[in-house]
Amino acid sequence: MSDCLFCRIVAGEIPSSKVYEDDDILAFKDIHPARPVHILVIPKKHITSLATVSVDDQAVLGRILVRANEIAVAQGSPDGFRVIINTGRVGQQEVPHLHAHIVGGPDPVGPMLKRL
Ligand code: 5GP
Ligand code: ZN
Repeated sequence: MSDCLFCRIVAGEIPSSKVYEDDDILAFKDIHPARPVHILVIPKKHITSLATVSVDDQAVLGRILVRANEIAVAQGSPDGFRVIINTGRVGQQEVPHLHAHIVGGPDPVGPMLKRL
């Protein structure tokens, strides 16, 4: 069993509210939403952070961004959204499995968010 929280979510060992899934990525609702729409999109394969990616990860990273709009629209953010990828200590990344936050909702998300 992996001790990575998000690998365990991918494996179904920890429940999550999934909103999108394909062979390579999984999207689920953040447990502590910062905005009306707050989705985490992750590679199913363990990648620690943007600080550890390689060219081999290009396709899955692209897929996360390419799917972001349809995920946001389906979740109630029809007119745009913000993507945030906290990275490492300085980026205050808490879960060491790469994830893109998609935040949005019916209304503008406001100034750059202090903490996600
Ligand atoms: P980070 O600070 O690493 O960019 O963001 C981690 C995010 O994961 C936080 O927004 C936090 O609310 C979310 N999170 C932490 N544990 C869980 C969990 O068990 N399930 C879900 N759905 N989200 C989680
Ligand atoms: Zn992991």
